[in-house]
Amino acid sequence: VIREGEVITIDGTTGNVIPGAVELVPPQINENFESIVAWADEIRQLGVRTNADTPEDSRKAREFGAEGIGLCRTEHMFMEEDRLPLVRQMIMASDTDERAAALRKLLPMQQQDFEGIFEAMHGLPVTIRLLDPPLHEFLPPLVELMVDIERLKLSGGDAAEIEEKEKVATKVRALQEMNPMLGTRGCRLGIQWPEIYEMQVRAIMQAAVAVEKRMGDAPLVEIMIPLVGYAEELKRMRELTVNTSDEVLNDAGARIEYLVGTMIELPRAALTADHIADYADFFSFGTNDLTQTTLGFSRDDAEGKFLTYYLEEGIVKKNPFETIDVNGVGKLVETAVQLSRAKKPDIKLGVCGEHGGEPESVKFCHGIGLNYVSCSPYRVPLARLAAAQAVLESKKMVY
Ligand code: PEP
Ligand code: MG
Repeated sequence: VIREGEVITIDGTTGNVIPGAVELVPPQINENFESIVAWADEIRQLGVRTNADTPEDSRKAREFGAEGIGLCRTEHMFMEEDRLPLVRQMIMASDTDERAAALRKLLPMQQQDFEGIFEAMHGLPVTIRLLDPPLHEFLPPLVELMVDIERLKLSGGDAAEIEEKEKVATKVRALQEMNPMLGTRGCRLGIQWPEIYEMQVRAIMQAAVAVEKRMGDAPLVEIMIPLVGYAEELKRMRELTVNTSDEVLNDAGARIEYLVGTMIELPRAALTADHIADYADFFSFGTNDLTQTTLGFSRDDAEGKFLTYYLEEGIVKKNPFETIDVNGVGKLVETAVQLSRAKKPDIKLGVCGEHGGEPESVKFCHGIGLNYVSCSPYRVPLARLAAAQAVLESKKMVY
């Protein structure tokens, strides 16, 4: 008998419930495991990269056999405790000088982040995505601010503090959106606030120069622009990236090769991939957003709600956020592969949505000829196996 409040442990694989807290150990890589994935590596054609934002995750993924980073999300770096006040200062700035001052202080912190990741992934490609989420996500929620302001007013709080909070509340109201998922995200942010992307590119390239000096070879840098829908957006963001990078490299007297590419996360981007390819060295399919935008499902509103009902009723067979919706989202990805390769046969193509670590989706990626999949560190071995199974299945060697 287990009573309310008592600790239990659930084995997520078997479903067994064990009374008390079982001592946990991190998964260990042993020789058998190494041999099996090594066999898979001999067979697979798809590359397997990882989604990682920190040197620790990068190292872990490397241990699991990741062949580079396919997606380094930079928004987490903006959320860290020591950065958040500066990020807020940047958003709240009343003029460009004030904004530039905040960005100057953020730059060395971002540079340090990138140096750590480049060192951990030395010798392997690292795709860094420039800032994606809407800016109001970095400010406190409006309700919290309003409650604070009322409390301060009622308790006769400091007038300057009230005024400051009211200023933040006004900014939050101005930035808030009805549908943030479809709002000022991705490159829309970079186009309106180019100084943010400029700072990030500067930090990336300065980090690359520093790591080259320390380690002898330059890191393999890939700069990725998020949520592009129009070729013109990427044209402008590529220009900004190249100009800023060249400036850093000229100042340092360094010559470092780098790629500029984009995520394909919108149906329009997939359908016009030939035009977008004009400005891209690589595409990474962001199948999380591509699933949301193709199906018109907001993941947060679908899972646990109507999507669960759809699954129970058999309207959809699998959760499309876990297993790629081959007939819809998959068709868009395949179309983009064909359009872009017809224009630029050498364009590098990968997937970095969560599907990149799900076996059935990995097999689909192999089937349409992508170069690599990218997934969270712990899924890397699974992706390596699935990529090999895809080859064997296509040769009818798996029964
Ligand atoms: C994606 O949309 O698939 C993706 C990888 O980006 P994010 O999940 O960060 O939106
Ligand atoms: Mg996305």
